[in-house]
Amino acid sequence: MRRPGGQAVILMYHRIADDPGDPWGNCVSPANFEAHLAALRRVARPTRLAELVEGLASGTVRDGAVCVTFDDGYVDNLEVARPLLERYGIPATLFAITGREGRDREFWWDRLGRALAAGEGQETDLVLEVGGEARKWRVTAPQRREIGREIHALLLPLSTEEREPLLRVLAEWAGVDPDEVRPSHRAMEPEELVRMAEGPLFDVEAHTVNHPALSLRPPPEQGRELERARAHVGTWLGTPARGMSYPHGRVDDLTRRLVQEAGYAYACGSAEGPVRMESDPFMLPRAYIADSSGETLARRLKWLLY
Ligand SMILES: [Zn+2]
Repeated sequence: MRRPGGQAVILMYHRIADDPGDPWGNCVSPANFEAHLAALRRVARPTRLAELVEGLASGTVRDGAVCVTFDDGYVDNLEVARPLLERYGIPATLFAITGREGRDREFWWDRLGRALAAGEGQETDLVLEVGGEARKWRVTAPQRREIGREIHALLLPLSTEEREPLLRVLAEWAGVDPDEVRPSHRAMEPEELVRMAEGPLFDVEAHTVNHPALSLRPPPEQGRELERARAHVGTWLGTPARGMSYPHGRVDDLTRRLVQEAGYAYACGSAEGPVRMESDPFMLPRAYIADSSGETLARRLKWLLY
C-alpha cells in the first residue's frame, strides 16, 4: 500500500477524561494522552498550528510537524490536558464553542448519550416527533447504541431551538434532569478560556457559537455563527479568531467561502489524513485520535508522515 506521504499531521481531540460510557468516542484517557505526548516528542516535531498554516503559505513546513487540537472546549482541556502539554512543552490549539451550550446546559450529544445510558436494561418505547413525523423505537439494551446513532443523525441538522424540546422528551423518557450539567461534561466559561490561552504554547480559536452542522443550515445563519464566534474570541482574548474548525466536520463550497468572508485565515475539517503543501488552508484535514496507546499513535504518525 502506498504511504500517504504527508508533510504534517493535525491531531483532533475532544475530551481528555476517563469515561467508560463515552458513546461517541470523544474521550482519550489522561494516561493515554500523556503517552501520546511522549510519543509526539519521540517521533514527530510538535508545532503550533498557526506556524503550520504560515508554513503552508510560505512553502516552509518542517518535516514531521504535528499539531495538537481540541474541539468544543470541555473544561478537562484546561484542568487535565493543559498541565500535561506544558510538562512536555507541546503547543495546542483549542477550537471553542462560544455560545452558552455546554455551560448552561450540556452539549446536545452528551444529553442524548446520557438519556440513552440511563435506565439501561429495561425495555421501553421512545417516541420523538422530528420534522412533523413521529418516530418510534423499542429500546432494548443491545440496540441502545444503534438507536443512539440514529437519533444523533436526526438531531444533527436541526437548530438549537428545534432540538431543545426533543432533548426534553428524551430526558423525561430517561428520568434525568434536562438542565443538569455534570462537572465532567461542562464546557469552559470565558474566563477559563482566557486562562487556557495564557502563555506561548496555547491558542484559542473558534468553533462557531452554537455548533450547527454549518453546510446543512441556511447561509445567513452560517454567516452569523462564523462572524459572532470570531468576535467573541476577540472580546475575550483581544484578537478576533484567526482559525476555526467545522462542527461535525460539515462543510461545502459555500460554507468554505463564508468562512473566508468572515475574516478567518484557516479552517480545520474532519476529513482524515495528513496535511500536504497543496492542502486547502480552509479544509485542513485532521487525524481523529481514539483512546489508544502511545505506541499505536506513534505507528500511525510514522505511517502518515514518513
Ligand atoms: Zn465540535
